[in-house]
Amino acid sequence: MLRGSQNLPRRLQAVRERIAAAADRANRSVSEITLLAVTKAQPVDTLRAVADLQVRDFGESYLNEAMTKLDALATLPLTWHFVGRLQANKTRSIAEHFHWVHGLDRLHIAERLSAQRPFHAPPLQVCIQVNLAEEASKGGVPPAELAEFARAVAGLPRLRLRGLMCLPPVESEPARQRVWFARLRTLRDTLNEQGGRLDTLSMGMSADFEGAILEGATVVRIGSALFGPRPARA
Ligand SMILES: *Cc1c(COP(=O)(O)O)cnc(C)c1O
Repeated sequence: MLRGSQNLPRRLQAVRERIAAAADRANRSVSEITLLAVTKAQPVDTLRAVADLQVRDFGESYLNEAMTKLDALATLPLTWHFVGRLQANKTRSIAEHFHWVHGLDRLHIAERLSAQRPFHAPPLQVCIQVNLAEEASKGGVPPAELAEFARAVAGLPRLRLRGLMCLPPVESEPARQRVWFARLRTLRDTLNEQGGRLDTLSMGMSADFEGAILEGATVVRIGSALFGPRPARA
C-alpha cells in the first residue's frame, strides 16, 4: 500500500492531469477549478510536502486535529477549509481560524459563525451543503428549503455565501453520478436567477471528480487519490 508522502508527487501530478483533462473535455479553463487537498488523518509532514508542491487549499474535518496542523503551518500562505460536520460548540475556533466552511446546513450554526468571526478578518466564506437525495444519514439542507436558507445566510454580516456543496449518493455508473452534480448546478443557477451571487460549486471527490468538473465543479475535494486509503479513525 502506498502510504505517507512517498508517492505524493506522482499522485498529485496524476490528479492534476485528470483535472486538466476533464476541464478540457468540458471546455472550461483549468484555472476555474481549485484542488482542495482533504488532509484529515494525514500527519503534518504530509501537509508540508503537499504545500511544497504548490497546493494552497487544505480541507480538514476534525477541529482538534486541524488546529494542531494550522498552528504547525501558520507561516505558510495556506487557505484552510473546514469540510466536516459542524457542531455548535466548535464554531468559535472555526470562525477564528478557517477561511472557508463547506458544510453549512443549520441557521443557528451560521448565526454563531457570523457572530464569532473576528472583526479584523474578512467575512468567512461559506458553502451551503445540499442533501440532494434527502438521505437520513447525511447532513445538508433539503432542496425545497434551500432558497429560504440561502436568503437567511446571505443576510448574515460576517459570512460571505459563495456557493453550494454536496456529498451525493455513491453511484457505480459515472453517468448516474453526473445527474446529482447537474442537479446541484441547477440549484445554484436558480438561486442566481433569483438575485444570488454564488460562484462556487464544491462537488466531486476522489472517486468522481471528473464527472463533477464536467457538470461545473469549481472546487474538487480530494483525499484518497492523493494520499491512498485513510487509516481507520480511532
Ligand atoms: C473525506 C472527505 C473528502 C475526500 O474524500 P476522498 O474520497 O478521500 O477523496 C471530501 N469531502 C469531504 C466532505 C470529506 O469528508
